[in-house]
Amino acid sequence: AKQDGKNRYHFFASEIEEILLARNALDRDLRIALDESEFAVAYQPKVDARSGRIVGLEALLRWCRADGVQVSPADFIPLAEETGMIVQIGSFVLDQVCRDLVELTAAGCAMRISMNISGKEFQEEGFATRIAAALDAGGIAPALLELEITEGTLMGDIERSRANLLQLKRTGVSISIDDFGTGYSSLSYLKNFPIDVLKIDQSFVRDMLSNTQDASIISAIIHLANSLQIALVAEGVEQEGQAAALAAMGCSTMQGYLYARPMPLTLLWPLLKAGRVP
Ligand code: C2E
Ligand code: CA
Ligand code: CA
Ligand code: CA
Repeated sequence: AKQDGKNRYHFFASEIEEILLARNALDRDLRIALDESEFAVAYQPKVDARSGRIVGLEALLRWCRADGVQVSPADFIPLAEETGMIVQIGSFVLDQVCRDLVELTAAGCAMRISMNISGKEFQEEGFATRIAAALDAGGIAPALLELEITEGTLMGDIERSRANLLQLKRTGVSISIDDFGTGYSSLSYLKNFPIDVLKIDQSFVRDMLSNTQDASIISAIIHLANSLQIALVAEGVEQEGQAAALAAMGCSTMQGYLYARPMPLTLLWPLLKAGRVP
């Protein structure tokens, strides 16, 4: 770009245009992806570190484009949230999770599945009612479903959040706070909202063995959860040392590559039948 004001203006304008074009293309591709069934749900086990038993699964959205390229949800969920398409994508995930819960139960492998809920979905009118209806339609025990919600989502509209959470709790669904400790929120909501599980964010786990601040934050979260009788899951556990340190601090439920990667249900069956990770 030229240094003078006029040319620089043109440089910026074309850059903005490029970004907008890319967003429009992504938006269009997401619609096609929904229509053409390019989305799938992968499951990652949550494991009790002491016994190695699988205690639950997290549903994670996967997008395999027609050209074979896998696109990370981190790269398209934010735009889908902006455009509102997350609502349709979320209902695809809910339907798939319900079908899989029915299949797991029929196979004698009934197991709690958690799914990620974005702010837009959670704040939507009738959200809790739709969850209840989907469970009811599948004849699924509500205790088998857990919803992962971030602090930011809860803080959006506090009154609506509280009402939604209470309705979900009455239905029998569990609630977990995802990426705990990374949002900007008041801790008092832990007392006022019916929260079942805190998920310790992987950004704290990553360097916990070398960074004493991260280790201290984890220790504080564990104490907080224990004193409020809220369950814990540590995310992004990749090393034996991390698992050992977490267990020593009082968190024994782990999720991470050390135990299992997210995978399609078809590949997960042997682990589910065995009830444990290898
Ligand atoms: P998240 O909910 O915090 O999910 C955890 C992410 O960490 C997943 O990435 C998972 O594959 C990855 N992960 C698991 N174990 C390890 C590990 O040991 N090390 C490392 N480095 N990473 C690990 P993924 O699947 O790419 O998802 C990214 C984010 O996209 C999720 O973060 C969640 O915020 C969002 N997302 C995924 N599926 C859905 C969905 O169905 N609906 C909504 N609204 N958001 C979703
Ligand atoms: Ca999650
Ligand atoms: Ca997380
Ligand atoms: Ca995250």
